[in-house]
Amino acid sequence: MTYSQRLERQSRELEETARQLRLANTRLTEISAQKDAFLSQVSHELRTPMTSVRSFAEILRDTPDLDAAHTRRFLKIIHDESERLTRLLDEILDLSFLESGRMSWRRDEVSLTEVIDRALASTEGLRDGTNIVIHRDRASEDVIVTADFDRLAQVFINLLSNAVKYGKADAPEIRIAVTRFGGKVHVDVSDNGPGIPMHDSERVFEKFARLGEITLAGGAGLGLPISREIIHNLGGSLDLLPVPVGATFRVTLPVSETASLSARA
Ligand code: ADP
Repeated sequence: MTYSQRLERQSRELEETARQLRLANTRLTEISAQKDAFLSQVSHELRTPMTSVRSFAEILRDTPDLDAAHTRRFLKIIHDESERLTRLLDEILDLSFLESGRMSWRRDEVSLTEVIDRALASTEGLRDGTNIVIHRDRASEDVIVTADFDRLAQVFINLLSNAVKYGKADAPEIRIAVTRFGGKVHVDVSDNGPGIPMHDSERVFEKFARLGEITLAGGAGLGLPISREIIHNLGGSLDLLPVPVGATFRVTLPVSETASLSARA
């Protein structure tokens, strides 16, 4: 190789290195902007319940002759808002652990029937006093997936809670349908409520996305992003399906290759 050919090659290599550095720098700037946006959303979300706790505590402190009914009501608000703060902090920590890959995961052979049973039991309290009817369409035999039982249950608890919270209808119904096809399984969680416009089908998975009015019963808009992160971690996907009535969320997971219920029995 001649001197000038060597020079040319070195200059090409330098150019490539410079290009890579520029790309890395752009990515770092993007990540830093995302972090800033997340932090400012988090502080905004924390400020609302904290302001509420402080204001009501101040009223209680500065009004010694407040009647019992008001005292109870304000204490209840302080209690509920503190619980909301704790939930919010737990969710923020969960999401940051999930996104940074620092979460430790169990990988067990998990029965989908058992996971759904657990999620239904955990959300029973939420359905108390409602006239919600639950339908379960099971696959002909149980499906086994490789997963962390508690984490997977957390996803279905979230989908079922959302169906209860947002799926308001005159005769509310929630359907859980498990369908196996080849190496994959779909679990569809549907309600017959007002549903979600398809142009928001991706927005609902964004952090702090809330479509309707913000209520005390509602969460911070982190349930779906956390659920999607969990399902991605298990090699699957979580999507909102286009349906004519209500909302249907579909969890798709790979079926465990090493286990089936009959093999376990
Ligand atoms: P949150 O913790 O606020 O419930 P999610 O991330 O679970 O947050 O949901 C985000 C938003 O998506 C909710 O605030 C609600 O507006 C909308 N949503 C979720 N599930 C449903 C559903 N089944 N029907 C209608 N809207 C829903």
